[in-house]
Amino acid sequence: MEEELKNKIVEYARLMEEKGFVVGTSGNISVRDGDVVAITPTSIDYHVMKPEDVVLVDLGGRLVEGERNPSSEVKMHLSIYNSRKDVRAVVHTHSRNASALAALGLSIPPILDETVNYFGGEIECTKYGMPGSSDLAKNVIEALGNRNGVLLSHHGALACGKDLKSAFENAERLERLAEIFIIASSIGKPESIPEESIDMEKDIFEMMNI
Ligand SMILES: [Zn+2]
Repeated sequence: MEEELKNKIVEYARLMEEKGFVVGTSGNISVRDGDVVAITPTSIDYHVMKPEDVVLVDLGGRLVEGERNPSSEVKMHLSIYNSRKDVRAVVHTHSRNASALAALGLSIPPILDETVNYFGGEIECTKYGMPGSSDLAKNVIEALGNRNGVLLSHHGALACGKDLKSAFENAERLERLAEIFIIASSIGKPESIPEESIDMEKDIFEMMNI
């Protein structure tokens, strides 16, 4: 079971690099399996990363298995699993359009239905926290709430989901929504969808997300 999990993590980590969501060793991916979290190691290029480089830690951050050190953002990943029982996978990227908005401290408002259907509402930008810090982990929990994505102030983006496939798709969607928000804002002033639609779609999101 854990071998298969490690293979999948390496496969998606490479895909994250191929899609241009990260450069070098930036970004990280984790998956929760019961009380164990499998996470990408720190400082290893994705194209040479092997399944055995993936590190297993418990929910308190103690090493369970692995020769490598876990990602420097392990606190951020663990704080999400410790506060959100529904989240089984987390994907952190430095994708371009999301990072541009994060550099400005802007959130992505629900200007498309997708924002509510897949993320549960506005994709908020966190308060600033140094990479790898407990502050960043705390700020992410605050801005994430019960939704599936956040922008990390002056840093990048984070998406989560009920499994690795949905967390990765949410990372792709988040980047796409950031791009559409930038395009729409360059032409006019995009408005959020009506409040009653947001409420109805949030109810559906909560049912689907369990
Ligand atoms: Zn980062």
